[in-house]
Order: sequence, then structure tokens, then C-alpha cells
Amino acid sequence: MTDWSTLVRPSLLGLDPYRPGPGVEELKERYGLTELAKLNWNEGLLGPFPGVSEAVLAELDRAWMYPEHAYTDFREAVASWLGTSPELIVPAHGVQSLIATVAHAFLDPGDSVVVPSPTYGLYAQVSSAAGAHVETVPGRDHRHDPEALGAAACRVGARLIWLCDPNNPTGSIVKRDEWEALLDALPERCAVVVDEAYAEYVHPERRLRREDDVEAGRPVIVLRTFSKIFGLAGLRLGYAVAHESLAPYLDVVQEPFNVNRAALAAGRASLRQPGLVDERRRENEVARETLARLLRERGVEPFPSEANFLLVRVGVDDLALAEALLRRGLLVRPGSDFGMPGYIRVTIGAVPLMERLAEELGSAIREILNGDADQQLEGASHA
Ligand code: PMP
Repeated sequence: MTDWSTLVRPSLLGLDPYRPGPGVEELKERYGLTELAKLNWNEGLLGPFPGVSEAVLAELDRAWMYPEHAYTDFREAVASWLGTSPELIVPAHGVQSLIATVAHAFLDPGDSVVVPSPTYGLYAQVSSAAGAHVETVPGRDHRHDPEALGAAACRVGARLIWLCDPNNPTGSIVKRDEWEALLDALPERCAVVVDEAYAEYVHPERRLRREDDVEAGRPVIVLRTFSKIFGLAGLRLGYAVAHESLAPYLDVVQEPFNVNRAALAAGRASLRQPGLVDERRRENEVARETLARLLRERGVEPFPSEANFLLVRVGVDDLALAEALLRRGLLVRPGSDFGMPGYIRVTIGAVPLMERLAEELGSAIREILNGDADQQLEGASHA
């Protein structure tokens, strides 16, 4: 019997793969549900833009051809939407694959990286798998602490700082002055990788145009996705905005032409309707602020968010609450899954669904507190 643990790279030992847990159909069957709202993974719940499915279907006739030339069209479409040059756009099958590509391109065993906490778990996972030391820097008031990130990078001689903006799971954003100070504080041989998976949900006035930093030659790599506002998570499509002198190195380590034609066609068709991005951002903001208000009215504290999700301090056992909501047909992410017990993270959907969520969340918390429907919830947020 081969002992694979002695053959794989030693840096993989002790790391656990990501396990997605049971799917929607399995949960519906297990809990006897006819409907289950998927509010656990921050997918864009509105789905693909109109006309995108048709563009994908039409592309399938060309499925026999490798997608090299379709890459050019996609890069041009993204670049013209962003107002930047196609040479800066590196397509990939999602931000997740780009995180691995960047780690592969930058990290040798024994290198150090800086990762804020809390944040998306994949940066630490992939960096550790590459054999790097992960220096974790706690945030302040549920926001990143860019000054501390820069200081930590200098202290440990980091090769990379991983920054998620807006941050998952808090929804907070980095302000312009904080960002510029961080860039100025970077040590030699250190780059910042900014995961902007949720950037399109941020109001344009508050969004930082980091593609300009890339173009200006600053040590910045931006990662973007079609999984969120464009509603295409299942097709796996994303891109890096990277300086044209860096892009070839990324292309050396990522599999050549790893994005399929259907996804590229979907991306192009989506970008033909840029007005819909603004429309969805506004709808998301209305639904998010409605949910936030309804939660506060019930004595539950959501954190200010610029993304398509809310992090909520619930004051009860988050696993019990997620289970109680699941029984009511609402799938949310318990904070214990990402090291924040006592919190849940919920994806924003249409206003009526958010109204139902607030209602059910209030009733589920009452049920957990002592099964007394008249229980006042005021204490819940402070518990
Ligand atoms: N980055 C962050 C911060 C995310 O929250 C997610 C999705 N949960 C991803 C990346 C995944 O992006 P993609 O679907 O493009 O791989």
C-alpha cells in the first residue's frame, strides 16, 4: 500500500481540503422542504444577465475549437469596460484559480505572506500549501487594518499581502487614504494581491480604481470575477488585472487557456449590458439596507457592508441558528465555519426574501433563546 503522505510535498501535510457540505437538493430532501433559499455562498442570486444563456448556447456549436482566439475577444471586452488596456487582462476560471496561480508564481517554501483576519480562507490555505509562512494580522472593528498589514509585511519580509476588498466575511472596504498609505509602506520585493470579487457592488464613488495602480507600475495585482454581480458562478470565469510585464509570468504557471468557450461567451455577452451592473448594484443596496434595518429593529446587529452579504452578530449559537433557519427553508453560513462563532453571514437577495429572512431569523432566535415567542430580543445583540 503506497503511503501518499510520504510522497506529496511536506507542506500539504496537516492542511484540510475545502469541503462544501451537502447540496441544496440533498438538504431539501433531508429537511422535507419544497424550497430552499441559498443564502450561504454569496453567489449573485439574480443569475445571468438577459441574453447570456442564449450566447452560451450559440457558442456550443464552436465547442470543438480550442478557445485561444476567444480569449482575445474577452480580454478586449473586459478592458474596454474597465477603461484599461487588454494587455493587462489575464483570464482564468475564477478568482480561486488566480489565487493559486499567484501563489505558484510568487512563493517558494520558507517565504512569508501577510493575511488579514478575518478574511476569505483560500489565501492562507494556498500560501501554506506552497510552503510559505502565513503572518495573520487581526482587523480593527471588523475592518482591515492596512497600517498593521504594512508593518507586518516589513517585519516578516513578506513576498505578498493578500487583501480582500470588500472583505469577505465583514463586507467592509478599504478607504483611499488607507490604500495609498499601504502602497507607500510596502517593503522591497512585496506585492499586494487584491481580491475584488465583490467590487461591482461598491458605489463607484467609493470604489478605488486599482487598475490605474496596475497601469502605473505599482506592485499590485487585482483579481475579479463573474461569479457575483454577473450571476455566473457555475461557469467559473474571472480575470486578473496585472501589469503587462507580469502577465506572461502568470501565464507560465497557470494552465494554458483554461477558460472554456461557453464561459468566455457568457462574459462577453454580460459586458454588452454595463447598465445592468449599476441596476443590480442599486437593487442589492436597497435589499441589503432593508435587511439591515429589519434586523436592527429585532435587536440583532449587522455590520456595515458594501457587498452582497451581511455579517450579523446574532447573540446565540450560530450553528443552532443556521439549523433552525434551514428548517425554515433558508440556508445561511454559520460564522463557526470561518472562525467567527456567534455570527452568521447571509447573502443578499430580493427585498421580499430579505423581509422573510428577517422575520424567520427573529423567530428562530426566540426559539433558541427559550422557546418563548414573547421573549424580548433586546439582549440578543449584547449576549
Ligand atoms: N474571493 C472571495 C472573497 C469570495 O468570497 C469568493 C466566493 N465565495 C471567491 C473569491 C470565489 O471567486 P470565483 O468564483 O471567481 O472563484
